[in-house]
Amino acid sequence: MTETLDTQPVRNYDIEELKRLDMAHHLHPFTDTKALGKEGGARVVTRAEGCYLYDGDGNKMLDGMAGLWCVNVGYGRAELAEAAYRQMLELPYYNTFFKSATPPVIELSAKVSSLMGDEFNHLFYSNSGSEANDTVIRLVRQYWNLMGKPYKKTIISRWNAYHGSTVASASLGGMKGMHKQADLPIPGITHVMQPHWFDNAEEGESKEDFGKRAAHAIEQRILELGPDNIAAFIGEPIQGAGGVVIPPSTYWPEVQRICEKYDLLLIADEVICGFGRTGSWFGHQTLGIKPDLVPMAKGMSSGYLPISAVAVSDKITKVLIDKGGEFTHGYTYSGHPAACAVALKNIEIMEREHLVEKVRDETGPYLAEKLATLADHPLVGEVRTLGLLGAVEICKDKKTRQRFADVGKVGTMCRDHIMKLNTVSRACGDTMVVSPPLIIEKEQIDDLVAALRQALDATAADVE
Ligand code: PLP
Repeated sequence: MTETLDTQPVRNYDIEELKRLDMAHHLHPFTDTKALGKEGGARVVTRAEGCYLYDGDGNKMLDGMAGLWCVNVGYGRAELAEAAYRQMLELPYYNTFFKSATPPVIELSAKVSSLMGDEFNHLFYSNSGSEANDTVIRLVRQYWNLMGKPYKKTIISRWNAYHGSTVASASLGGMKGMHKQADLPIPGITHVMQPHWFDNAEEGESKEDFGKRAAHAIEQRILELGPDNIAAFIGEPIQGAGGVVIPPSTYWPEVQRICEKYDLLLIADEVICGFGRTGSWFGHQTLGIKPDLVPMAKGMSSGYLPISAVAVSDKITKVLIDKGGEFTHGYTYSGHPAACAVALKNIEIMEREHLVEKVRDETGPYLAEKLATLADHPLVGEVRTLGLLGAVEICKDKKTRQRFADVGKVGTMCRDHIMKLNTVSRACGDTMVVSPPLIIEKEQIDDLVAALRQALDATAADVE
């Protein structure tokens, strides 16, 4: 297959008919369908190239979110399509159950292990971040059962964390709206404060002191519930959907100390932070965290095909393998050969184009510099960046960090304004966040930040 986007004819869609069919037959995730109907239906994205999306109404949009934080190598990579095509011709599917394997799953396991450092040598595959986190719960339970400590069951997570949408992974997450709709969390999961200085710090509390206090909330919960009952702590190195929460530098070292003191497994959910986003291959490397389990997804294949995995440290595999016998867990598509072939090629592209180094040395610092210029805006209370993750806090009073009433309303207004400027950024509550493809160039970062300022101006005019 040698066709690229340039040589393919652009298909002529009947967009109005597609929008009608969409409303008639498609239930969207995280969407108010009634409101969507009133707004004239979905935005139908028909193609994409590099950092840009094209919709059926003729708009070209700068994608400041890399899809859903996942299209790390950008859109339109013929090499990834070719990798899937070749693999599908050679072996479109075979499973990895019952002592079987395929070449791509073996090669990918070895490759990802080599990116993770000495402690990690095994991967367990699934298809989404949610499934990877369900797998994490199975691994944690099996580990402590095999260790002869079946009472060590509770997992501590944080409010506003996002770990997925299945019953178990949404329970691990701390999104109250999700819990409410689905009667969650399931038993055995408890949540503590997120390390979000802007919203949770007391008056005059420094970031460093707050970071320690947020970590101590974990210790307090351990002591309340009894250390013997606590199995693990889970956290995204940087909370993504919770509002790109970059913890104070004092937070993670303290969390690490607490996990070691009370014999908890430490799980770093790298579904967003993994594969270069923070300027290292994995976020735990950037932040100096030493986890035992690392769920990953999204950037693993740059979203070209669904694939996820949990990297399992030697400490855990040794117990699972030596004492565990058959692990009765797996998915039909665990280690799907085409998805693994695409993930391998995706990593090859990232290495060849030095994308991790580019984020660390060039575009990450540049985004930080440019986003910081928004701090003078009357609506902006704080700006945070690490690698190619950025957050802009919208608030009513910059000095006191007071939010607008009905959190999320003003953020949504700002998000709608920036969309009108053909730029995609997301509102997490009243936090505008960006997470562009890792191939983004400096001029495109300029465009992204200029659009954010214009959208903030328009929002300020609305709330006056
Ligand atoms: N974990 C984190 C940190 C995420 O951001 C997400 C999705 O955004 C998930 C897990 C769930 O991944 P998926 O949507 O692939 O199930």
